[in-house]
Amino acid sequence: MADKRDYYEVLGVDRNADEETLKKAYRKLAKKYHPDMNPGDDSAAEKFKEASEAYAILSDPQKRQQYDQFGHSAFEQGGGFDASGFDFSDIFGGMGGMGDIFSDLFGGGRRQRNPNAPMQGANLRTRVSISFADSISGCTRNVEMNLKDECTNCHGTGAKPGTAPKICPKCHGTGSVTIRQQSLFGMMQSTQPCPDCRGTGKIIEQRCPNCSGSGYTSSRKTIEVTIPAGIDDGQSIRIRGKGEPGLNGGPRGDLLVEVRVASDPNFVRQDMDIFSNVEISFAQAALGGDLRVKTVDGDVIYTVRPGTQSGTRVRLRGKGVPSVRNKDIRGDHYVTLIIRTPSRMSEEAKDALRRFDMLTGNSLGSGQEPPASDPKKKKKSFRAKMKEAFEGE
Ligand SMILES: [Zn+2]
Ligand SMILES: [Zn+2]
Repeated sequence: MADKRDYYEVLGVDRNADEETLKKAYRKLAKKYHPDMNPGDDSAAEKFKEASEAYAILSDPQKRQQYDQFGHSAFEQGGGFDASGFDFSDIFGGMGGMGDIFSDLFGGGRRQRNPNAPMQGANLRTRVSISFADSISGCTRNVEMNLKDECTNCHGTGAKPGTAPKICPKCHGTGSVTIRQQSLFGMMQSTQPCPDCRGTGKIIEQRCPNCSGSGYTSSRKTIEVTIPAGIDDGQSIRIRGKGEPGLNGGPRGDLLVEVRVASDPNFVRQDMDIFSNVEISFAQAALGGDLRVKTVDGDVIYTVRPGTQSGTRVRLRGKGVPSVRNKDIRGDHYVTLIIRTPSRMSEEAKDALRRFDMLTGNSLGSGQEPPASDPKKKKKSFRAKMKEAFEGE
């Protein structure tokens, strides 16, 4: 306790740091020293714990004030602070498994583990990137991984063939030692992996030359990943049994493959639906006609209705994203029709447009009044007049 580092120093921030700065600094350290990223590295775990303590105190305005005033002694008289009551979840969104890490590091009801019991191996993670089109149709990708296998020479014991590992005298084979110490969190009893045998409960006196006593050999392997149609960006595929080997006959862990889907210039996906914009000419919008529309199934012909307004959204049923569970179930594709205003026109086309304007309300105020007639008749001849106006464009 006496040699405890200053919390601001631990996080590498100055004493006036605001909440956001603290959070950023802590996140950075937590990621760097996270026990999952540094398996078996006790000093990293210690640093992670130190940073977590510092952040837990400094992010609480009341505790921070106490700390600023009294230093570490503010929290020494018992009571005060309980790590398990602190919510780290918003800091660790997406990192996963934090609850376990905290209960492991800070004690708090950790189960005693029998190092000789069968245990499933750890999961491995990797990523693949695919195109938008491949995410719709589904695809396969090969990933290369370094996978550990049980050493064939010693059959995973790590001991030189003909010898056997002996039971660790420090922990009597349990693999863990109990330490009591006064700490920030009150009198803390924590169970830690035995330092002599690194939690295995066994000491290898003569190491297997093939695996240097680890019990495993590592080799590069190619694993085929089947990516189902309809996979969304950030989803993961679990491949059972392609993780780390289990201990004491336990099953292997899994390989989790996170799929990153590239964005597409034409389509935007939302859940199972696809959205896109298509430009149409003013003449097409006014008169109607067939329009070629890009979909993930290729081009389709959509018939624009006469009098279509800009911004009209049309639905192409079943042209959306397939469900990852059943590719026969598909979302829809919504196309927004956007009327393109011509910006470069010939004099002839401009004249035609002026004439058109005169016939349809004279918004430009350029010519004589349009011929008066009863509204019914006017409506009837509207189409014909427009056709005329656009002929030759
Ligand atoms: Zn071996
Ligand atoms: Zn031991």
